[in-house]
Amino acid sequence: MPEANYLFSVSWGYIKFKRMLNRELSHLSEMSRSGNQVSEYISNTFLDKPTELDLPCSVPKSRERKRRQGQQQQQQQQSGMMTQISGVRKLSHTSSISGSSGNRFGVKTDQEDLLSKDLEDINKWGLNVFKIAEHSHNRPLTCVMYTIFQERDLMRTFKIPTDTFVTFMLTLEDHYHSDVAYHNSLHAADVAQSTHILLSTPALDAVFTDLEILAAIFAAAIHDVDHPGVSNQFLINTNSELALMYNDESVLENHHLAVGFKLLQEDNCDIFQNLTKKQRQTLRRMVIDMVLATDMTKHMSLLANLKTMVETKKVTSSGVLMLDNYTDRIQVLRNMVHCADLSNPTKPLDVYRQWTDRIMEEFFHQGDRERERGMEISPACDKHTASVEKTQVCFIDYVVHPLWETWADLVYPDAQDILDTLEDNRNWYQSMIPQSPSPPFYSSDGEGGPHGEMEGGPVASKFQFELTLDDQDGDSEGTMMETTGDLTLKDETGVEIAAHDVSPAET
Ligand code: AMP
Ligand code: MG
Ligand code: ZN
Repeated sequence: MPEANYLFSVSWGYIKFKRMLNRELSHLSEMSRSGNQVSEYISNTFLDKPTELDLPCSVPKSRERKRRQGQQQQQQQQSGMMTQISGVRKLSHTSSISGSSGNRFGVKTDQEDLLSKDLEDINKWGLNVFKIAEHSHNRPLTCVMYTIFQERDLMRTFKIPTDTFVTFMLTLEDHYHSDVAYHNSLHAADVAQSTHILLSTPALDAVFTDLEILAAIFAAAIHDVDHPGVSNQFLINTNSELALMYNDESVLENHHLAVGFKLLQEDNCDIFQNLTKKQRQTLRRMVIDMVLATDMTKHMSLLANLKTMVETKKVTSSGVLMLDNYTDRIQVLRNMVHCADLSNPTKPLDVYRQWTDRIMEEFFHQGDRERERGMEISPACDKHTASVEKTQVCFIDYVVHPLWETWADLVYPDAQDILDTLEDNRNWYQSMIPQSPSPPFYSSDGEGGPHGEMEGGPVASKFQFELTLDDQDGDSEGTMMETTGDLTLKDETGVEIAAHDVSPAET
């Protein structure tokens, strides 16, 4: 395809994809109050900055109002020059370095046998990182990373001294906040281990260089460091120092990168000391790319590009993907870390449910802070009105399933089990909506309680969000990259339930 056409096709497909999602969210937001909250959560978190035309009709007014309110109410005093990277603390691990004292997983533990058993699952999608935290004195990131690096022989390949590795990892782990419910070092360990598994998928066998593998795992490990437990929008609305520092653009993600790289300069922390200058430069460029791509407002464009890649993918006779240039490889890597970041609902249900409890606790904590400050409470963050189950079902339907389905197409058939688990988990949360007993962190959603209109009613049997574009020849089902055609919504059984002809004039 000529490049101009290709680019047109990609951006046009992207616009149509967003319009389609906006219509769906708009519809959802009209169904009920909690439907509106969930719709706003998806829209605010996973769509990039809106243009007037892109928005579902219910969203722009409240978002704009929220922005203005935040600006008026939260004039924080700023002082001094921001020459330091905030959040980097002086800590010394010289006494606790266990790499040199011979512990097996880089951490001190009196439960080494249990930890050893937990870590036997390091190459499995069901690793229980919560148990690892319990058996390692809350050092899940250090011991998961240590085990992955051992498993992949990365310390030898890149001549990383063991004590330097352990010192860096302990320092990094210390810069995750243990009092933040979700974005702590357990989440970092989870994303690093999930990335480790995705890197080993048979369809990508021998595709990536050792340096690319090192970069992806390192990116996952640092990708949320020093996360304060509030969203980018909260930081922007409160005129925080971080938002000022990064001019409101990918505020947290820029900060995670700055802290992650800065920590390499601490005493005995430079794990890349024996890389060549060129390797260091390439690694840094890749890590920046991957971590910036974890900004969820980039989700739709990442997904659109991944879809295009699936449409045009080439495989060798043994079924391995052909990714012969840097652009394609980094695109797969940034989507891989993004998938790992959005992988909670693909994990065994008991593990997934723990992540859900944690993220809702963190959201509700942010909501409490917003309430205290007289700000508008962010979607999904109001403990009095949010519905945990509906949030999960919609999060899966609109965000996680479309992403993982596309990833599964890319690496077909490697991720079929993951997709099955995701669908089972989605159905479990869906089935929990009718009973909807008030779990610890929230109460009834104020719209008829457990038997409100969303619970078990028409919306409960809502279609799985699926996008197809049927062109004239009918040969492009499953793609959203056609330049002309109808947008078709199908329900779970494949029955068409809505179709819109989108002409270029509509955009
Ligand atoms: P990150 O903040 O980098 O971990 O990016 C992941 C984002 O995806 C989170 O901040 C949430 O907004 C969203 N997310 C991830 N997992 C869940 C979940 N289980 N439920 C709802 N939202 C989630
Ligand atoms: Mg993040
Ligand atoms: Zn994350």
